[in-house]
Amino acid sequence: MQRDGLETGSNLGVLRTTRIIRWLLALLILTVSLQAPAASGAQTADEPEYAVQLIYAIPKDGEDRGLDQDGAILESVESAQRWLEEQTGGRRLNLVTERRGQPSIEFLELTRTEDELMHWPESSASYQIEYEARAAGFNTPGILNAIYYEGADAVDTTCGETPWPVYSPGNSFTLFLQGGCSVFSLLGEDEEAGWWELTFLHEFFHALSAVETCAPNGEDGHSLETNDLMYGGSEPWEYPVLLDVDNDDYYGHGRNACYDTERSPYLVPHGEIVEPYPAPFIDLEIEACTFENGEITDRDGLAEVWIVNLTPDPVEIVWFDDRGEPDSLGEIAGWDGGIFTSLPGDVLHVLDSDGGCLGSFVMPGFVEIGVVWAMSG
Ligand SMILES: [Zn+2]
Repeated sequence: MQRDGLETGSNLGVLRTTRIIRWLLALLILTVSLQAPAASGAQTADEPEYAVQLIYAIPKDGEDRGLDQDGAILESVESAQRWLEEQTGGRRLNLVTERRGQPSIEFLELTRTEDELMHWPESSASYQIEYEARAAGFNTPGILNAIYYEGADAVDTTCGETPWPVYSPGNSFTLFLQGGCSVFSLLGEDEEAGWWELTFLHEFFHALSAVETCAPNGEDGHSLETNDLMYGGSEPWEYPVLLDVDNDDYYGHGRNACYDTERSPYLVPHGEIVEPYPAPFIDLEIEACTFENGEITDRDGLAEVWIVNLTPDPVEIVWFDDRGEPDSLGEIAGWDGGIFTSLPGDVLHVLDSDGGCLGSFVMPGFVEIGVVWAMSG
C-alpha cells in the first residue's frame, strides 16, 4: 500500500493521488514545520539533573560590569543560600558547579538591545531573555536558569520576573539589575540577605510554581503576608522575611492537592518525597526533518487516519492553516473511504456537502492508525 501524503480513492485499498492534493499537503507540512520551535537537545527518558545555572547576561551594546568575574553574584547567591538554610533547616539550591565544585556562572551577551527587549511586542522582557538563553544552548532539561540581567524592564520598578510554570513553559527567572532596582546592591556572602538576595529566592520559588491559587494566603502568584518571601504587594517587605509564614501556602504544607515546594528536586539535600512541579508542559523531541524542497522525504514520519464515510453523500476533509484559512484535503464519496496522512496532532474536520461540520478529530501518533467513522448528525 502506498502511504503517500494525502490520498483518497474509491476504496481503502486502491488509492489515487492527484497533483493538486499533493500540493495542498506539501503546504500543510511546510507550514507546520516552520511553526516548530528551534531544534533543542533531546530529552532523555531518564530523570534529568535538577539544578540551577547562574547566568550573567548583558543586552547587546550594554555595559558589562563583570559581575560574573568579580565574585559579586556568587557572593550574593551565597548570602541567599545561608538565608535559605536557616529557613529550611539546612537546605540549599542545587547549583550547577564547575569541576572544582564551585558554583559556575556563565556569561551571555544577548543579540538584542535593552530597548528592543524592553519593548518587544506582546511579550515581557523575561520571556525574550529566556528565549535568547535557550537559543544560546541554555536549554538542558531540568536546568533552571537564574539570569542576572544588566538591564531594566518596561516597568522601571520591576526587579525580577519569572515565566510562571503554572501557565507557561519556562526554564528561567530573571533579575533586572538596572532601572529602578539599581538602588539596591548585591550583598556579600557574610552579610544578611537583603533585597537582591531575597528577590533571587522570591523568583526562584515562582519558578517552582509558588504561590498557587490553592494556597490559603495566595493571590495572583503571591502571598498576602508582608513578611513572607513571596509577598508581592505594594508595601515594603516586613523583616525578618520568612519562607512561607506558617508553612501553609507553598513550602512544607504537606498537602497533595497543592504542590509543596519542599518536594522540589532543586533543593538539596532532597526531602523524603522528591517530586518536580507537575507542569502541564512537556518538551517534545525534535526529530530529523522529513520534508525538503516541497517534498516529503520520509513518508513514515506521518500519522495515518482512515476515514470511512457512513453517509450517502460526499464529505469533505478540511484543515485550517495558521492564518485560519480552510484547506480542503479532499472529498470522500458517499459510503466510501479514504486514507489521509498528516502530522500527529493536526486537527482535521469532516464537513457535509453543505459545508456544515459533522465532527473534528486530532491526528493520532505514529504508532496507531486512526479510524474515523463519519456519520451525519
Ligand atoms: Zn513575585
